[in-house]
Amino acid sequence: MKNQIPYGRHSIDQSDIDAVVSVLKSDFLTQGPLVPLFEKMVCEYVGVKNGIAVNSATSALHLACLALNVGPGDIVWTSPISFVASSNCALYCGADVDFVDIDPVSYNMSADALSLKLEKAKLENKLPKVVIPVHFSGQSCDMEKIFALSKEFGFRIIEDASHAIGSNYKNHKVGSCEFSDITVFSFHPVKIITTGEGGMCTTSDDELANTIYRLRSHGITRNPKEMTEPPDGPWYYQQIDLGYNYRMNDLQAALGVSQLKRLDSIVQRRQEIKKYYDKILNDLPLILPKQMEYNHSSLHLYVIQVKEKEMLADRKVVFERLRAGGILVNVHYIPIYRQPYYQKKYSFLPSSFPNAESYYNQCISLPIYPELTNEDMDRVKETLITPIGHQVLF
Ligand SMILES: *Cc1c(COP(=O)(O)O)cnc(C)c1O
Repeated sequence: MKNQIPYGRHSIDQSDIDAVVSVLKSDFLTQGPLVPLFEKMVCEYVGVKNGIAVNSATSALHLACLALNVGPGDIVWTSPISFVASSNCALYCGADVDFVDIDPVSYNMSADALSLKLEKAKLENKLPKVVIPVHFSGQSCDMEKIFALSKEFGFRIIEDASHAIGSNYKNHKVGSCEFSDITVFSFHPVKIITTGEGGMCTTSDDELANTIYRLRSHGITRNPKEMTEPPDGPWYYQQIDLGYNYRMNDLQAALGVSQLKRLDSIVQRRQEIKKYYDKILNDLPLILPKQMEYNHSSLHLYVIQVKEKEMLADRKVVFERLRAGGILVNVHYIPIYRQPYYQKKYSFLPSSFPNAESYYNQCISLPIYPELTNEDMDRVKETLITPIGHQVLF
C-alpha cells in the first residue's frame, strides 16, 4: 500500500520545535513577550501599523465585525466559495448574510457582480454594512475595484486573507489594508504558516485596533484613558465592552515567529509546485488555476476543474479515483448558501449564483504543501488518469 498524500500539510522543522520548547522552559506560557513580537513581525512583513493576534481566524473575523459595529439589522456580504467562518462571523453579531457570485476565472468574489448587486440593493434600501472579500487559494481579490465601490456605496471592508499571508496585490502585501479596514489571517496547520491554531487582524486604524485588542480579552482595559469611570487605584481595570477570551498564547506565537522567518521560501516552493503541476497536467481536459497578472499568490490551494464531457467522467468519479489511490484530494468549497443551516435560515436559490454552482460541480483541490515532491505530483497525475474498475478512460 502506497503512502497517502494529503491535500495540505504543515511544515515543521527543528527551529520551530526549539522555539516552542524554549517557551515551555520560560516564565510565560501565555501573555509573555512572544505574542507582541509575533504581532510586530507580521506588521513589518505586510507593512501595516497594527496587528492583533488571536486564537483563530474565526475569532479574528468575529472581532473584526464587532469592531465595525456589525449588529442586528445589518447585512454583511461575502463570497459563497469560502469556508463557513467567512459568513458565520456576521451571524454571531446578529446581522444577516448574503453572497456575491464569483468570477469564473479567479474564483474570487466578482467585482462586476458586486457592483450589479449593490445597484439593486440601493434601490431596495438593503445595502450591506460590511463586505468580506475572500482571497481564494491565496490570490487577492481585485481590491482597488472593491474599494472604489465601498466609497460609492458606503460599506466597510474586511479582507478574509486566511489563505493569503505572503501574497501580493499589485505593489501591496496582502494585510497592508491599503484597500480595506481590517485584514484577517489564519494560522491553522493547513494554511501557509501555522501556530497550531491561530489568527490575526491587521489594520492601519488605531481605534479599530484598540477595540479588537480589548474584545480579544473580555472587553477589559487597563488604560485609564479608555476607562469610563475614574480608576480606584493602580490595581484597577475596567470592563467596558462584552469581550471574549480569544487570546493567542506564547507557545503559539513562538511557533508563528519561527514559521514567519520561512514564509517567503514556503511561498516560493508552493509556486514551484504550481509550475510543475501546470506543466504535467497541461495536456489533460482540465481547467487549471489562473493567476491574474497583477497578483502574486501564496498558493494555499491548487484547484483543478474536471471538464466532464471531455473527461467522460464527472468530478465525483475522478474524486473517488484519486481518493482510492491514496491521494486525499478535497473540494473547496461547498457553496456556503448550500449548507443546511443557511438553507433553513434563508432558503437561498443556487440559481442565483451560476458561477459558484458551475465551479462547485467541477472543482477538486490537488495536494499542495512545501514537502510535496515532483514524484508525488507525478503519482497524482498517474492516479488522475488511471480508471479504477469499470470507470471510463478519457
Ligand atoms: C481556514 C479559514 C477560516 C478559518 O480559520 P481558522 O483559523 O481555522 O478559524 C476562515 N476563512 C477561510 C477562507 C479559511 O480558509
